Amino acid sequence: PPVELPIHEAVLGGAAAFGDRPALVDGTDGTTLTYEQVDRFHRRLAAALADAGVRKGDVLALHSPNTIAFPTAFYAATRAGASVTTVHPLATPEEFAKQLADSRAHWIITVSPLLAAARRAAELAGGIREIFVCDQAPGHRSLIDLLATTAPEPRIDIDPAEDVAALPYSSGTTGIPKGVMLTHRQIATNLAQLEPAVPAGPGDRILAVLPFFHIYGLTALMNAPLRHGATVVVLPRFDLETFLAAIQTHRITGLYVAPPIVLALAKHPAVTHYDLSSLQYVISAAAPLDAQLARACAERLGLPPIGQAYGMTELSPGTHVVPLDRLHQAPAGTVGRLIAGTEMRIVSLDDPGKDLGTGEPGEILIRGPQVMKGYLGRPDATDAMIDTDGWLHTGDVGHVDTDGWLFVVDRVKELIKYKGFQVAPAELEALLLTHPGIADAAVIGAYNEDGTEVPHAFVVRQPTADGLNENEVMLYVAEHVAPYKRVRQVTFLDAVPRAASGKILRRQLREHA
Ligand code: ATP
Ligand code: MG
Repeated sequence: PPVELPIHEAVLGGAAAFGDRPALVDGTDGTTLTYEQVDRFHRRLAAALADAGVRKGDVLALHSPNTIAFPTAFYAATRAGASVTTVHPLATPEEFAKQLADSRAHWIITVSPLLAAARRAAELAGGIREIFVCDQAPGHRSLIDLLATTAPEPRIDIDPAEDVAALPYSSGTTGIPKGVMLTHRQIATNLAQLEPAVPAGPGDRILAVLPFFHIYGLTALMNAPLRHGATVVVLPRFDLETFLAAIQTHRITGLYVAPPIVLALAKHPAVTHYDLSSLQYVISAAAPLDAQLARACAERLGLPPIGQAYGMTELSPGTHVVPLDRLHQAPAGTVGRLIAGTEMRIVSLDDPGKDLGTGEPGEILIRGPQVMKGYLGRPDATDAMIDTDGWLHTGDVGHVDTDGWLFVVDRVKELIKYKGFQVAPAELEALLLTHPGIADAAVIGAYNEDGTEVPHAFVVRQPTADGLNENEVMLYVAEHVAPYKRVRQVTFLDAVPRAASGKILRRQLREHA
């Protein structure tokens, strides 16, 4: 059944009972916030924000890397009745201004190192009433000072079914990022739907290196662990050695990551220099993960098989996950099983009205209480995504096996049509990564001189393989795949451009092709 609670209640409702337990730990300097503090601070801050003029329905932009203050700021804002739009900390002032204008934000919470960008964005967008900082900066009220408020806690009447708690922007992999309206009920219900499969509790120590501003981090690294008394160790950015050191120092028990981190864990020499024996599981989501790479990573770390989860911003975000007690039984490469209270169909790409059977790949459609309220200000885009029967068309291609395990092939839009055959870039990327001389790879469809769409590979060489050339790459692929899947163009790069959530930025690659 849907959870009819505001998100701050759904997450922090039990916080007082967890008392002195560490809720958030700064992975760089060890500063700790207890559950009692997060609970008290977010209520005080909600009072201060209301006193500053924040009203129910106002949009507040939270612009910060992962810090231990981030969750408090988020729940304070929702308790004050605001909808929070989370902003990429590295957004340019222009990008940030677009999001401010698009979401009609009135308030910003930022951190002093990003203040200049926030001020510039506010100037460009207009309409911003105040910029607060989490830490300290001259001329701006700090959340620390605001904690001293004597204002009464606001009594805001939140309707969990209607009121928008979060306005995250989709990653912008396929187009311009879209503001996704997620209600309190949608987010809270999805948390409850996912928790039987990936239970958390006071003994768990989770490392939050993926960004809180993206819906995956917001759910798996913030809402879910804080709802259950776990400890979240926070890192502001991914740096492999800092990440490994944090696992060792804080005896991290569970990791939620994206495929590039699995790749680093499987291949990077530094991994063996750290004691990672506290780890019990690793979950990967957000982008296709190759089964062979997943196996190599798990074996190297001495862990059970890596579990995957599947979702999208528009789904609050989850629909599938490999339950932690099924890691050994789940078939390699699956993104998991459908969670409770959610329906799925797989329909033909050529004939969208036709439901497909077991093993047949088609577009994944989802219906359930976690389907977004809509795209902000884009009713046409919303109608294109959610049909009149409530089915959300994910744009992803997948198939299910007889036991209900889902496999995601790739995005419909990314499939390369080579002379009438369909080639999934994810499959070629996975194959390329098995080459010892290849550190990273991405594949897109590009057009050759005859106007035929062909697979074009972008390859990052291993430092030890600087002689690797185009022909060797093409031959390697040709040895392993059917002729229509061959890579026919190769470009070498220093790094594959990726979004913060780990997704390959194919639009940027197209500019190089
Ligand atoms: P945009 O919608 O703006 O183009 P985006 O779709 O990348 O960007 P997100 O909502 O962050 O934005 O990502 C959701 C997408 O991520 C899914 O539609 C799917 O393509 C991909 N994805 C998520 N989990 C997995 C997974 N386990 N395996 C493969 N792909 C995944
Ligand atoms: Mg999308």
